[in-house]
Amino acid sequence: MTHRQYQLNKQNLQALQRRPVRTCSIWKCPKPTMPVGNLCNRHHKIETRSGSAYNRSINARSRAPFRRSVQHVLKMLLNRHDEDTVMMLHEMDALLNGLSGYPAQNSLRGLPPTERARALLYHIRRQGSRYRSRPANAGAGLRILIHALAVEIMSRSGKLPCSAPRYLKTQVARAVYGLLRSEVKVYEIDCGNGRMLKQKVVTKKMSMQSKNVVRHLYSVLEPIYWLWLTKEHVAMVLRQKWILAEEVR
Ligand SMILES: [Zn+2]
Repeated sequence: MTHRQYQLNKQNLQALQRRPVRTCSIWKCPKPTMPVGNLCNRHHKIETRSGSAYNRSINARSRAPFRRSVQHVLKMLLNRHDEDTVMMLHEMDALLNGLSGYPAQNSLRGLPPTERARALLYHIRRQGSRYRSRPANAGAGLRILIHALAVEIMSRSGKLPCSAPRYLKTQVARAVYGLLRSEVKVYEIDCGNGRMLKQKVVTKKMSMQSKNVVRHLYSVLEPIYWLWLTKEHVAMVLRQKWILAEEVR
């Protein structure tokens, strides 16, 4: 490095250091902001995970009564061959059936967010098809709808801690992401002397990482169910015993 370059670098660095320090825009947070945006490191992390810097994500337990109610209502309407419900499930299944050939969960690095969002759905479907024989496990399409709709209906009935659209989108995406599992394969190696060695290989669940994956996942799912989310259907879900029991408590 020439002396001239060295001096220029030094000047640039000093200019950067002289910048006024901005503090995090969250109320009462005194920490300096990250180089980009107006949140400190900690609040930026919270916002990325939950969709709101002020609120953590809702947990599976608070979602449970809504999930059970939605599940009950959807199965009841499907048994009655309700046209809107049958159509919605049909569209969901068509989306899932159209996805194919994504690499394993640990080999998705570098894929653009749109493709990561689709790969996520692909792996949920692939994993789901293995357990189809168990009656408790509905098809992947129905399970995805149940989890997404539960969060949407929580939002419509004011049960989410935050009304920001980004929070809703993130929570829907996280609920669906929760259906994905890590994968464990056990290989048996014959040692030749009558002994078998077992080797366990774990493929870790892919991560959602970016806000863009959340956005794409939501924009793929929402068009499938938004027509179904009528006042009548929302009211039907809220009338079920699981939610009524929560209200009484
Ligand atoms: Zn902060």
